[in-house]
Amino acid sequence: MSDTQPAGRPGEGVSASTAAAPRTDAAALPGGGLSGETLPGGGLSGTELPGGARPHPLASGPADDWRYLGLPLVLLLALGAYLLLTRDPAPIGPPPGDDPLVRILLVEGAPALPLDLEGDWRLFAAAGPQWTPQGEGLRLSGKFELRGGKLTSPDGKSQPLPGERCLLAPAERGQGPAPAFGLLTRRYRGTLRLQQLADGRLRAVNAIELEDYLSGVIGHEMPLSWSDEALKVQAICARSYAVRELKPAREYDMERDARSQVYKGVMAEDARARAMVEATRGLVIKHQGEVITAYFHSTCGGDTVPASWIFDWVKQDTPPLMGASDCTCQASKYYRWEKEGVDLSALRGITVAFPLQKLEIEHWPRGGYVKRVVLTGKEGKTQEIQGYRARSRFGLRAPCFEGALRPDGKTADFKGKGWGHGVGMCQFGAEGFAKQGWAAEEILRHFYPQTTIEQL
Ligand SMILES: [Zn+2]
Repeated sequence: MSDTQPAGRPGEGVSASTAAAPRTDAAALPGGGLSGETLPGGGLSGTELPGGARPHPLASGPADDWRYLGLPLVLLLALGAYLLLTRDPAPIGPPPGDDPLVRILLVEGAPALPLDLEGDWRLFAAAGPQWTPQGEGLRLSGKFELRGGKLTSPDGKSQPLPGERCLLAPAERGQGPAPAFGLLTRRYRGTLRLQQLADGRLRAVNAIELEDYLSGVIGHEMPLSWSDEALKVQAICARSYAVRELKPAREYDMERDARSQVYKGVMAEDARARAMVEATRGLVIKHQGEVITAYFHSTCGGDTVPASWIFDWVKQDTPPLMGASDCTCQASKYYRWEKEGVDLSALRGITVAFPLQKLEIEHWPRGGYVKRVVLTGKEGKTQEIQGYRARSRFGLRAPCFEGALRPDGKTADFKGKGWGHGVGMCQFGAEGFAKQGWAAEEILRHFYPQTTIEQL
């Protein structure tokens, strides 16, 4: 994706760490539209430790320390431990069935679609903006192919689709997980909305309850082997993001790939993912009563930063996206990194002549994030590249780096911090705080200052 076209994606999940190259598609919602006063200072205050970690208020020290503590302090810590054990950091929300529907575009413009139905399903003609099913519907089970306005079974029998717009729904929904349908190579829960476009081509949209959708998403954004509280943080961020993405006036809300949140249907579900989604059912991040755009990224390298420092479409910073210091993401492989020998002359988009005379980097006042890079070419002309765009142009992991031009005027060496844009929640930091005993809500309030975690 071009680095000049931010996609509608809040995060750059840790799960992307298997990719060979840094992702350049991670950007944000245009028109985040949050209101609120701007904080003058930015980062959160807190006790600074030499190692950069901020202790949890209720965290206890190493076991050996207990010998040296006085009785009142022991009692206080015992009370703290009691509170930690007895409090419910993630209240259970309303029962299933009240969730908003999320509509994900699975296929656009396909001439044919294979369909594999487990159990009994019905295919209805659908009417109105809510895709209300009409009549009794066709009873279906097994494998079919949709092509040219017809539904064909493996024995070659075919029948016309009941309408231009059709809804495929389970014949009945009982207890337990909803039945799944197979489309192309994946399986999905919820219903399937089929629309015949021009030339008999098909659009397929999966309409699924928000909580079921999240179960198919969070394992792609964060490793399911991580701490419960970190996974709850991810679930609440993903839910907040999805809610901001709902577009009632359109035919669908989101894509199924990295343009939105990566959604692979039932394949991506896991008992642990479902449990973490269930433990946070309905919870979202709000500021002044509005759900926020919960940007997140893999690793910040120590400080998260105001959204306006990174995204040129964010004109005014709001308290939840001002950034925070003292992050605990040291366990990330990309907490610090180096990239040497980058041949700038081979990169697209460099408009000044080689050999370059200078490569200068101007930083923002906190965290080492780059405000802009100025290249001075052979004839003295200059080119300015905004920090976030410089990251993708130079193929670096984060817009947080130093750089030096070699004497050949073509090659540069970079040293940097973090992976991702550095705005909002830092995933490795969330895991770091979770390991120190922080609850999901505390972690979220650290990364998104002045917010509350509430039911949708
Ligand atoms: Zn971090």
